[in-house]
Amino acid sequence: MINAMEETDILVIGGGAAGLAAAESLSARRRVLLVEREERLGGVLLQCVHRGFGGEQTGPAYAAGSVARLAKTAVQVRTGTHVLSLAPDRTALLSSPRGLERVRFDRCVLATGCRERTIHALPVAGTRPAGIFTAGTVQRLLLDHGPVGERIVVLGSGDIGQIVARQLVQSGRRVVAMVEQRDRLGGLARNRRDCVETYHIPVLLRSTVDEILGEGRISGVVVRDLDTGRRRRLACDTLLTALGLVPDQDLCRGLGADLPDWLALCGNCDYVHEMVDGVVREAAALGAAWGETF
Ligand SMILES: Cc1cc2nc3c(=O)[nH]c(=O)nc-3n(C[C@H](O)[C@H](O)[C@H](O)COP(=O)(O)OP(=O)(O)OC[C@H]3O[C@@H](n4cnc5c(N)ncnc54)[C@H](O)[C@@H]3O)c2cc1C
Repeated sequence: MINAMEETDILVIGGGAAGLAAAESLSARRRVLLVEREERLGGVLLQCVHRGFGGEQTGPAYAAGSVARLAKTAVQVRTGTHVLSLAPDRTALLSSPRGLERVRFDRCVLATGCRERTIHALPVAGTRPAGIFTAGTVQRLLLDHGPVGERIVVLGSGDIGQIVARQLVQSGRRVVAMVEQRDRLGGLARNRRDCVETYHIPVLLRSTVDEILGEGRISGVVVRDLDTGRRRRLACDTLLTALGLVPDQDLCRGLGADLPDWLALCGNCDYVHEMVDGVVREAAALGAAWGETF
């Protein structure tokens, strides 16, 4: 059964940096409902305990500032609430402990962030035992004291792979190797210096993971040199994949090829941003632009 219809001027979906900034800027003139599926607002900021957000803040500290500013507005916030679908008649279907609800809105901001590519995106042989995680999952497991192993191979060398590799070393674990298919590390020079060089993380360039070994739990990987074809085994109990991010635009399905004019995408849901400041700037600009046009 679907509960009675709620109405709002603007529905913001996603309570990360983008959704928080968009909701704050839009709230001056309109009724805004912000919906977040997790219990806490902040999105990926909450799992990024390193410094470098808005200068030298940690992710959680940066999120706390945004949440505090939002609390001073009239934005209605619903956490623990998942938006299941958006329909062309400007309604959204929400799922929460209250049950299923439909919300009617005039405009909608989609700020659902992005997803990480998983090992399934690669043609890797072997079974899929436990111990293969994306970088984001490892960050969450570290916070929750979850089952991250002690010897880790990191596949992919962008900013996220480098930052999480450093977190693993700082937590007392060993990063056996960072494996990268290109002939140089990805990411910002700052991260290469502060994460990889400072912690002496071994790097295998022009290499990829060809095969996963182990039953039950991963026991190793086979790494192939892309130039020589040479294959060698590396023992590990965890494989961390940092294979890149894809904007999460699933809720646009069913809305047609051209996005309707009542819908705006912002933050990593629009395109992947390296820095949070750009996310916030663009989301706030959306508020200013929409404030003038309706
Ligand atoms: C590991 C890592 C390190 C980074 N390091 C830095 C750094 O040092 N400095 C810097 O400036 N930037 C850094 N960034 C970038 C910055 O953190 C991000 O660009 C920014 O936080 C993205 O915000 P967002 O709101 O677009 O996405 P997200 O934070 O992903 O927010 C999306 C939100 O939408 C919610 N959501 C998704 N689908 C639904 C749904 N159907 N219903 C309800 N809610 C939903 C999610 O739960 C999530 O809370 C880093 C990012 C990562 C991942």
